[in-house]
Amino acid sequence: MREHKQIQHLASAETDFFSLKIEKWYGENKRNLPWRETKSAYRIWLSEIILQQTRVAQGLPYYQRFIEVFPSVNDLAEATEEQVLRLWQGLGYYSRGRNLLACARKIVREYHGEFPSSYSELQKLPGIGRYTAAAIVSFAFGKAVPAIDGNAFRVLSRVFGIKNDIAQGKSFRVFFDWAKKLMHPRDPALFNQALMEFGATWCTHKNPRCGDCPFLNECYAFRNKAQGHLPVKGKKTKVTDRYLHYIIFQAGEQRFLKKRSGKGIWQGLYEFYCVETSGRTSWNELEDPLLRHVMEEEGGVLGQESAELKHVLSHQRLFAVFCTVKLNGCSESLRRIFAENELEAFDEEQIHGLPKPVLIGNYFQNQLSEQEVFVEN
Ligand code: SF4
Repeated sequence: MREHKQIQHLASAETDFFSLKIEKWYGENKRNLPWRETKSAYRIWLSEIILQQTRVAQGLPYYQRFIEVFPSVNDLAEATEEQVLRLWQGLGYYSRGRNLLACARKIVREYHGEFPSSYSELQKLPGIGRYTAAAIVSFAFGKAVPAIDGNAFRVLSRVFGIKNDIAQGKSFRVFFDWAKKLMHPRDPALFNQALMEFGATWCTHKNPRCGDCPFLNECYAFRNKAQGHLPVKGKKTKVTDRYLHYIIFQAGEQRFLKKRSGKGIWQGLYEFYCVETSGRTSWNELEDPLLRHVMEEEGGVLGQESAELKHVLSHQRLFAVFCTVKLNGCSESLRRIFAENELEAFDEEQIHGLPKPVLIGNYFQNQLSEQEVFVEN
């Protein structure tokens, strides 16, 4: 195989070998996954949304729970956002959960509950991008549209020596055209499945299984020992550190939480009152008017600070500490101040039922019910 020659100059023999080998490999090595047994656009869409940025082992139980609770797109469209986010809890990237609901509602409202079979039409729906649209039209409707995800980028760049930077938008078309040329029209779904599965389990990011790879003789990366350099990925994502101080105002059995509004990864989820600082800061140094008011005017008693919890997201590392401020009742004026800060009172059972970021859910699960030690301030 010559290195990355123009796709239009590939001879059919060079394209056929690829689809034949990868489809044969797939038949012998594929994992049995429930969404592979179906042509239902709803189930395929659901699995694809759940599996974005999520490993199969982690996503599988979520898929099964969603199918159980919402067997059809109509059932899902009738759910509340809180029900969906509650079921989504732990998967992260909560905008996917919100988009899931928005998309289901749009399909019911504008498409009579049927997924469109057009690649471009699907991309007008919330949360459906090029890759997901291609997966749906090929798996559910048998259309010859390549599904280009990270796996496809990796396999194609390595086998054919394609060095276009996959971080750049214009490279997508290059890979799409290669895959389109390689895809045999007899079964586009099989080709897409095989390419993804091969990238996910064989030609992996680290330690690809070159020794027993069907492309050993043709693979550019293997022959040039370039597995570690392909695909080329230019810009690195900058990771930001954030320091969060969660204050759990508690009056009797009630604790105060606030629903995240505005755009952001936790939009629509509930969390405790939070003060963010630019670095690690002790509680005594927190410059927060609400905390100061509660401590100085309302007799709030500060509990013991939790150990720092670290939570890693794709672009952020969160360092969170929690502390309860216990109140001897809650005056009308204080309720008003809490309301101005969008804080609502919930008992323990209600908190269990709220959709929460996994960081808050874990803390609540593990720590909150334990006996806490309060110190006089
Ligand atoms: S030989 Fe190695 S790098 Fe090349 S396709 Fe196979 S597993 Fe991937």
